[in-house]
Amino acid sequence: MFSDKDISRFTNLETPFYYYDLTLLQNTLKKCASAANVYNFHVHYAMKANFNPTVVAKIKSVGFGADCVSGGEVKQAVELGFDAGKIVFAGVGKSDKEINFALDQDIFCFNVESIQELEVINELALVKGKKAKVAIRINPNVDAHTHHNITTGLDENKFGINSWDLPACAEVLKKSAQLEFVGIHFHIGSQITNLDVYKSLCTRVNEFANWFEERGFTVKVLNVGGGLGIDYHNPDQQIPDFEAYFKIFNDFLEIKPNQEVHFELGRALVGQSSSLITKVLYIKNGKKKNFVILDAGMTELMRPALYQAYHKIENISRVEASSVVKYDIVGPICESTDCFGKEVELPETFRGDLIALRSTGAYGEVMASNYNLRNEVRAVFTED
Ligand SMILES: *Cc1c(COP(=O)(O)O)cnc(C)c1O
Repeated sequence: MFSDKDISRFTNLETPFYYYDLTLLQNTLKKCASAANVYNFHVHYAMKANFNPTVVAKIKSVGFGADCVSGGEVKQAVELGFDAGKIVFAGVGKSDKEINFALDQDIFCFNVESIQELEVINELALVKGKKAKVAIRINPNVDAHTHHNITTGLDENKFGINSWDLPACAEVLKKSAQLEFVGIHFHIGSQITNLDVYKSLCTRVNEFANWFEERGFTVKVLNVGGGLGIDYHNPDQQIPDFEAYFKIFNDFLEIKPNQEVHFELGRALVGQSSSLITKVLYIKNGKKKNFVILDAGMTELMRPALYQAYHKIENISRVEASSVVKYDIVGPICESTDCFGKEVELPETFRGDLIALRSTGAYGEVMASNYNLRNEVRAVFTED
């Protein structure tokens, strides 16, 4: 929800831009941190959700670590002042250069996604005379019940090491002198709204932790990844239920003394704290369709084109509707998938109206591109 003050401020700014509500972000972070502290759980923020430095600085200030999926993200985390001991590095395709960079930074651990990667990290660590801490990312074959394009923990997905490869993985760990095994890692998908999914995950985590312990490994870290969803249909209902989320892991994981539980939340921390603010360029009334043509498109917000993601669309210039019209809401890019919503009911809309695409804090600004030689999208923050 925007105040009259917000809207009059937006009217004077060049569109499109991502608007960040830093107060809401701060409140979300505080809620998450205090819910995690109840159980002494550790949170690493998944940088890929939003690496805007202003946003990341807020996240760092509540004491979270950083979960990175590229050398660039590791570098950004270091530069923004994250303690190297709180940086983890996942990803199916870490290059030698990225691994070397992370070794030089002495990060907390590599979440390793294949047996070959274990061997490569061992070799590169040997050259540097270092020990590399590793956690094994296991593909637990748990259905996250989310959009098929954002599920990651099924046998058919490219992520993690499959259970049938674990005996070979254990052999490699045992013979690799430069590797220090710290634990096991999972991340089964994103925008998970059915919390029962996490109960199934806990069962699998317990099984795999026991499997490693039975073979003489000490599993210090149980890293259960992220994926907690947000309510895209109710962007004003803003803070996810972190209490319920963490409670499930406390209730269903068999946590041994001295074991740490790690989380990697992205979307749930940042998703609701931003909206993409855009202006109506044209209204085009067709025979079957009415189009609202915006000055923002898939180059600014790719999620709808990439995986049919839903974002609530509001005409914030016309709160009191005289009549309601159905529109297809589209961008200016020369692609038919450049569409934010079909048959969206809005108050009758006119050129120059401001439109808010809500809940764009996660996987929004970070996925922007300059396709069609578009300008870089700007970020605007709440004024304190
Ligand atoms: C993307 C990602 C996350 C964060 O996912 P969210 O759905 O944004 O919480 C966590 N861990 C890993 C390894 C990831 O790739």
